[in-house]
Amino acid sequence: MARAMVRPLGSAYEAGEIPIMSEESLNGPGVNLNLRVRGLGKSPTVAINEHSDRLRAEGREVWKLGLGQSPFPVPRAVVNALKENAHQKDYLAVQGLLQLREAVAGYHQRKHGVNVSADDVLIGPGSKELMFLLQLVYYGDLVIPTPSWVSYAPQAQIIGRQVRMLPTRAENDWLLTPDQLDELCHEDTGRPRIVVLNYPSNPTGGTYEGEELAALAQVARRHGVIVLSDEIYGELNFKGEHVSIERFYPEGTIVASGLSKWCGAGGWRLGTFAFPRQLHWLLEAMSAVASETFTSTSAPIQYAAVAAFEPNIEIERYLWRTRHILRALGPELARRLRAVGVEVIEPVGGFYLFPDFSPLREKLAARGITTSEKLANRALEEAGVAFLPGTHFGRPREELTARLAYVNFDGATALAAAEQQPADAEIDLAFLKRYCEGPLTAVDRLCEWVAR
Ligand code: PLP
Repeated sequence: MARAMVRPLGSAYEAGEIPIMSEESLNGPGVNLNLRVRGLGKSPTVAINEHSDRLRAEGREVWKLGLGQSPFPVPRAVVNALKENAHQKDYLAVQGLLQLREAVAGYHQRKHGVNVSADDVLIGPGSKELMFLLQLVYYGDLVIPTPSWVSYAPQAQIIGRQVRMLPTRAENDWLLTPDQLDELCHEDTGRPRIVVLNYPSNPTGGTYEGEELAALAQVARRHGVIVLSDEIYGELNFKGEHVSIERFYPEGTIVASGLSKWCGAGGWRLGTFAFPRQLHWLLEAMSAVASETFTSTSAPIQYAAVAAFEPNIEIERYLWRTRHILRALGPELARRLRAVGVEVIEPVGGFYLFPDFSPLREKLAARGITTSEKLANRALEEAGVAFLPGTHFGRPREELTARLAYVNFDGATALAAAEQQPADAEIDLAFLKRYCEGPLTAVDRLCEWVAR
């Protein structure tokens, strides 16, 4: 068959012409390969990581508070389950392995006291991918309280959904208020909307109490807003007292969870969505797209995940200890930041802090630091501390906020040391200095640098 004519990307094709990419059309002079990509750059987390690596390669000391991944190892029982299931090789059902969906449903019942069955659960290669599918199949706006995790808005942008940012305030612990949601919904009553609530929060470390969730649930119900409840850090509520909005708004809430954070298995790529009966049409639409894209989540990982969601005393102990380490570390870092005049809310879960350097604005402005990006760049260049600027979390450029991920320590060693302590022993400063030295040093350097 004769080869179809090849034109560079970006040129118009004649009707009936078949566009074929040849080596030369891809690499030829003046060809902009980005022309077909929906206006997105590299993720900010990846960018800061690469910049830190470049500085390290130049021989500079760098403390990385940029990348938000669990420092702890995957619990032994779950690793063993993966080893035992390495031979699982078949494609699985699009919706997910039945045994796993049953375990996830049982987990929701046990932990949140809600009525979820295996039919309500969808398994995917990470909750992030499921969020993308949800936005793909649901024609509505995405409402994002800010500061918020970096990926919700770009996903909406890729798909072409409208994003409504609702800025929250430090005085309210960076939480969305029911009035804010109510006001937005009154602008255009009945417009289809999904509001994302992420708690404990990346980036703030804050969370909603039951009463606050009940009040938000009332507003969402009144306006028919779907709640995407991103509870990926739920198990990392420091006191183990995570409450889900599903309790107050079961018919309109989709709960997102997975193995990435509490189970330390981000790279395993397994996420879960739990739907109410009323929203099964979304589960079905998402499954249809999944069947044409990723087919099903990795089989060995799904079999292994059963062990993570089924009741297991060893995993409860693991959770208890990891929470205790984070519960000692987060507040200690917040205390050190406050001591030099930085404002930061008391973290109650997860492994992030969202300090606001505004009280030091004049001093920083005298050094030419007037935006959160400048703050992050200069802190990396001058103090060797890498973190993400608040602007990446949907905050105004001039607001001097930052996200610090306090995970730059050896979680396996820290966990092993915590296992040696009596069960009721608190994690003290000596423990933190010995096993979580990375975040302490990073924050101390940052404090010295801002106080200069
Ligand atoms: N939601 C939040 C708030 C996150 O921080 C992350 C990961 O960083 C995710 C969702 C995505 O998690 P997963 O690994 O399940 O895709």
